[in-house]
Amino acid sequence: MKKLKKCYVEITSVCNLACTFCPPTERQKTFISVEDFRLRLEQIRGYADSIYLHVKGEPLLHPKLDQLLDISHEYGIKVNITTNGTLIAKNRNKLLGKPALRQMNFSLHSFDGHPGSKDKAGYLADILSFTRDALRESNLIISYRLWNLTTDNQTNLERSRNRELLAMIEEAFALPYLIEERFERGKGLKISERLYLNQDHEFQWPSLDAEEDEGRGFCYGLRTQAAILANGTVVPCCLDGEGVINLGNVGQQAFGEILAGERATAIVDGFSRRQAVEELCRKCGYRKRFGMEEGEAAAAAL
Ligand code: SF4
Ligand code: SF4
Repeated sequence: MKKLKKCYVEITSVCNLACTFCPPTERQKTFISVEDFRLRLEQIRGYADSIYLHVKGEPLLHPKLDQLLDISHEYGIKVNITTNGTLIAKNRNKLLGKPALRQMNFSLHSFDGHPGSKDKAGYLADILSFTRDALRESNLIISYRLWNLTTDNQTNLERSRNRELLAMIEEAFALPYLIEERFERGKGLKISERLYLNQDHEFQWPSLDAEEDEGRGFCYGLRTQAAILANGTVVPCCLDGEGVINLGNVGQQAFGEILAGERATAIVDGFSRRQAVEELCRKCGYRKRFGMEEGEAAAAAL
């Protein structure tokens, strides 16, 4: 049996923001039912012990998130949630105290990324308050993500935009240094026990409209991870937000069978030869830049 490090199990395709860097999905708006979520875990049991509740969409919009976490615990599966953080105050009691929940990633860049955002201080205050409670009351790991850098030398606009947030974080955790002094792009800065800040370049979703190259490179898609969209479509990675590389649907076929299928096998074999066989992969920068460990970057875009 092929064991993945993690599986993305998207619980909704809906988001409450519209970030400029995130092409809105053309898929149907949907929320996974509790029953279907259970079936997903039944299907991926043995293939992955760790799940991420998104591909696109905002997981904290799911009205039964607490039940989904309880079911995950029943199956012995650890859950990681990446969220834009806007709904954290409302969801506090659905999250804290859930033993399945391992890590929360807050995509702080989504605040400035969404043109209609208001009250940055209030937004971050809710996240800081949740963080304090979580660090005190649980073993949850928390990661703040500011993935909005556009160049190696940040512009003044970026610096001042992020400074406001960074100053609030410095104050909240009484940091005796300016975060910029310890900044290393793509590397997590440990702010306190179980709390990290990660800054990186703006994330780019791969798109069929992008330029194609000769397709050389490597990717861990289907080797260490796979994703199941809210409608049951299996895709190789968390970057295929539109389900372009549709490998099959868990509503009609076993997850393991889909992973062992012809199209999936061709993708894995192709990357063993350092060759992208799928058009979307040939148009995906992550194949060349990082491989899939950092391709988890999709998480940050959510
Ligand atoms: S190359 Fe890009 S699109 Fe293809 S599997 Fe990897 S991350 Fe996904
Ligand atoms: S980046 Fe995340 S928060 Fe922003 S629109 Fe996309 S899914 Fe929503």
